[in-house]
Amino acid sequence: MTANEYVKSRFGRFMNECTNEEIYTALLEYVKERAKEKESSQGKKKLYYISAEFLIGKLLSNNLINLGLYDEVNKELETCGKSMADIEQIELEPSLGNGGLGRLAACFLDSIATLGLNGDGVGLNYHLGLFRQVFENNLQKEEPNPWITPQSWLTKTDKTYKIHFGGFAVQSRMYDIDVVGYENRTTKLHLFDVESVDESLVQDGITFDKSQYAKNLTLFLYPDDSDESGRLLRVYQQYFMVSNAARLILDECTAKGSNLYDLADYAVIQINDTHPTMVIPELIRLLMERGLTIDEAIGVVSKTCAYTNHTILAEALEKWPMHFMQQAVPHLVPIIFELNNRVNHKYHDEKVAVINKDNCVCMAHIDIHYGISVNGVAALHTEILKETELNHFYKLYPEKFNNKTNGITFRRWLLYCNPQLTSLIEELIGKGFKKDAMELEKLAGFVNDDAVLEKLLAIKDTRKAVLRDYLRQTQNIEINADSVYDIQIKRLHEYKRQQMNALYVIHKYFEIKEGKLPVRPITVFFGAKAAPAYVIAKDIIHLILCLSEIINNDPQVSPYLKVVMVENYNVTLAEKLIPACDISEQISLASKEASGTSNMKFMLNGAVTLGTKDGANVEIADLVGEDNIFTFGESSQTVIDRYARADYVSKDYYEKDEDLKKAVDFIVSDEVKAVGCAQNLERLYHELLNKDWFMTFPDFQDYVQTKDRALAAYEDRKAWAKMMLVNISKAGFFSADRTIAQYNDEIWKLDK
Ligand SMILES: *Cc1c(COP(=O)(O)O)cnc(C)c1O
Repeated sequence: MTANEYVKSRFGRFMNECTNEEIYTALLEYVKERAKEKESSQGKKKLYYISAEFLIGKLLSNNLINLGLYDEVNKELETCGKSMADIEQIELEPSLGNGGLGRLAACFLDSIATLGLNGDGVGLNYHLGLFRQVFENNLQKEEPNPWITPQSWLTKTDKTYKIHFGGFAVQSRMYDIDVVGYENRTTKLHLFDVESVDESLVQDGITFDKSQYAKNLTLFLYPDDSDESGRLLRVYQQYFMVSNAARLILDECTAKGSNLYDLADYAVIQINDTHPTMVIPELIRLLMERGLTIDEAIGVVSKTCAYTNHTILAEALEKWPMHFMQQAVPHLVPIIFELNNRVNHKYHDEKVAVINKDNCVCMAHIDIHYGISVNGVAALHTEILKETELNHFYKLYPEKFNNKTNGITFRRWLLYCNPQLTSLIEELIGKGFKKDAMELEKLAGFVNDDAVLEKLLAIKDTRKAVLRDYLRQTQNIEINADSVYDIQIKRLHEYKRQQMNALYVIHKYFEIKEGKLPVRPITVFFGAKAAPAYVIAKDIIHLILCLSEIINNDPQVSPYLKVVMVENYNVTLAEKLIPACDISEQISLASKEASGTSNMKFMLNGAVTLGTKDGANVEIADLVGEDNIFTFGESSQTVIDRYARADYVSKDYYEKDEDLKKAVDFIVSDEVKAVGCAQNLERLYHELLNKDWFMTFPDFQDYVQTKDRALAAYEDRKAWAKMMLVNISKAGFFSADRTIAQYNDEIWKLDK
């Protein structure tokens, strides 16, 4: 049955007589039906990828592509006078993730299905998701972000569990989303929900009664954790997630014949960051309920779990006060004590204890002691873990440490988001790269082919036009057509240093005012949400929005410089922004960005990186060579040493550097205060002047000069197009298919 026939059978009318909403609903059901026809792997051993976030993005077009139906449906729509772009607009983006970690989990599911591996995702079904960002008076405001509609990708299952907390219990239910691999099998994303969740608990914005757990467990992803009740709620959410996961795992494994002692032959659990850590004590507890001794249970679980570390920021390594555990999950407390005792007995070292001297449970420590594997997410990151952050553990368990450089799914981040570039590549090197991304290397044969380089530039122009139209229609933003598109999109965090980019913008503004005009207009794009309780991050957004208002309304400056901050940055916006990008801003303080994945998406789409030697940027630089990337800034070793000496004084740089001083002072000028909020601006100014914890000042001059060098290089269009082509040709290494094959070969060992 074709899609159009399906629409007819569903509504009694063909597509041309249906509304876009009706077509969307019918296509959704059509895709779900067709996905059911695909087999899933039936191997004995199964991977359970547990993650608090799955930032999956809209699914209609991607599923059509992976099912091999996209072109056909697209044609049918066109024949009926409809457009895929309009139908796509109907779908709401599932709001189940926050940033790179959640997007990684989504890319991994795509690759697991595409490689035909036996593995499912397990997470939570947050009804209101991560907040929706709106701008008001140049400030971020948070609103609920409901995404579940009556017809959705979720399929209600009859799996339910009774989950016990201290003093009460809730009934859970599992919902499934089919994950369709590219021309291969399907797997599932299992999202657990609580039957008693109540959306009317939400009052104003995103505030709600944090103590009514049965009603609020799956309302929001990452509820505000600036107070104790918010942090405690996260423990409830995490336990709810992993207790359901653990029960599902035991059910499935026993159904396949496991006697529980051999659980590791049936299951491997990947713990994505520390949020799912309680799956370890919970599995031990459930195994003991089923008759294993504690020795046996710990032995079994210790062969089953593997941990991925995503950050070296100490504040992000979760430590929960013991009294949280006593209140939320008292039945896990004796097991956690036992896990701690065993470690202390063996190592007598406070630094590797499970329970620290402040009586907090160090979640990562449980993962490392009681798991088979600890992996970092880029080569540099893994080295820093081994040598510095987790060095005590590396000395105990060198064999557990390994690197898995992150990757992205090329189906979404090339085939779907950039069909023009995909066609050109196919024309040049054939279709093979869609399954084997390393074939992109064949593009290297065209670096001196002028016709190809011209086409590449023309495609970039097309994508810039698509972005312009999209932002005009959806956000009422006007962009200068022939400007350079310089883009920084990622969560707002001081270590990612959007504030340094903002200082560059101020510096350019002054140059233009003084008559030093750029040869071509520059558009600086930002997209970023700040955590609701992260004050300085919100102040940085405020500064950017104020700069945007001042600069875009200044007739002397705006012909040469524009600042655009897109509202509510998400996957849908990323898919539009990335193909249109000329300069990819990857400017985190060296040593602080574990990997980054937007850097990979950008290079794949022919943007050139302007970046520090941090995270996967290091591997990008190694692959493309120093001539095809703009790197700047102090090395990770210099930064690590400076932190160790604790002798960084930002004011010293401020006083010695005229340009920097002028840019920083502008933050609290009358001009900015006229469009902003003095309190916020002064707070940010003092933070930079007296602390600047992520060291923007030492890198400022190098950043300005390197960015100006990149802008100058852009003017040699042919040389620039060559850089674009080299970047695309070297992007194959960053396919998530490669990453997942490595996880499987070295950690999961699933049969195919
Ligand atoms: C890829 C992606 C990220 C991660 O970006 P980084 O720059 O690597 O931090 C975050 N959000 C969205 C929507 C993404 O698509």
